Amino acid sequence: MDGKSIYSKSESIAMTSNPLLSIVIPLFNEVDSLPHLKKAIDTVLEREKIDTEILFVNDGSTDGSDKTIDRFASEDSRVKITHFRRNRGKAAALDTAFRLAKGKYVITMDADLQDEPEEIPKFIEKLEEGYDLVSGWKKKRHDPLSKTIPSKLYNTVARIISGVKLHDFNCGFKIYRREVLDTIQIYGELHRFIPILVDAQGWRVGELEVKHNPRRWGKTKYGISRFLKGFLDMLSVTYITRFQSSPMYLFGTIGFIVLLAGSIVLAYLSVGWFMGVSISGRPLFFLGILMIIVGLQFFSLGLLGEMISHMRNAIRPRDDEDV
Ligand code: UDP
Ligand code: MG
Repeated sequence: MDGKSIYSKSESIAMTSNPLLSIVIPLFNEVDSLPHLKKAIDTVLEREKIDTEILFVNDGSTDGSDKTIDRFASEDSRVKITHFRRNRGKAAALDTAFRLAKGKYVITMDADLQDEPEEIPKFIEKLEEGYDLVSGWKKKRHDPLSKTIPSKLYNTVARIISGVKLHDFNCGFKIYRREVLDTIQIYGELHRFIPILVDAQGWRVGELEVKHNPRRWGKTKYGISRFLKGFLDMLSVTYITRFQSSPMYLFGTIGFIVLLAGSIVLAYLSVGWFMGVSISGRPLFFLGILMIIVGLQFFSLGLLGEMISHMRNAIRPRDDEDV
């Protein structure tokens, strides 16, 4: 079939060893949706004639998904598979695939067909407008309210704290230029913060509205507990991206404000004391002392942080400079 191709012929010839696109699919117990997903991907690739490899990462499935993707690999030479012996989480699955991907562009999508493979060409076009990462935005989301409401709140906080102007940080559908992936490491639950980590490295991050389908097969792997963990992780990521090289700016500022407030309180009480007012039983007295101690502790934390940061910079090789 001679469909319209979204990249030029010369590029197709030049990319014979390395494909234009790597499609990365992390999966955990998705046996029922996999055949539908593969078919939908094949249809798009066939029509658009995109030179592609498809990387399935089986994150310790126990429902027979492993056999299904083994079959894909035996039938289709573009398919590459990795099996984890146990469930290690979506972030670990993505990170493994990022190390293996050879495409000029790398697209990630969920295995449950909540993302539409039909949108792959739009992602490539948007990336080629001059972005390094384009993140999907599930504007009309087909998930239960228990998921969509906390998710809205979470995205608003992430936008304010990180300064990255995205509506949907945790969309599984994203496309990257491959070199971007060499600059980030995803572990734990960090897949939710990829745009923040990527933005912190100075790459251009864009957004593309995507269709979102209800889950038709299998069950979601994430309950409500992800939101508490998500908020805690957000604090860690913000701290690491903003203050890793200058922890004293954070802890020193807090320490300074608390110390100053404590000093003002104690100075005020001292004036009273000189004028003969008893201060020993006053709550303000204890508050003043507490603030001085807490302020000094924050300063000490800042100094320790600076020491660790200094040691990290002193021992790392010269060519590992942040750029
Ligand atoms: N997933 C995974 N490992 C896990 C949890 C999930 O590889 O430990 C995969 C899952 O199979 C799916 C994607 O990550 O392809 C997104 O998961 P899910 O659809 O459950 O998340 P939701 O859409 O409910 O946010
Ligand atoms: Mg899903």
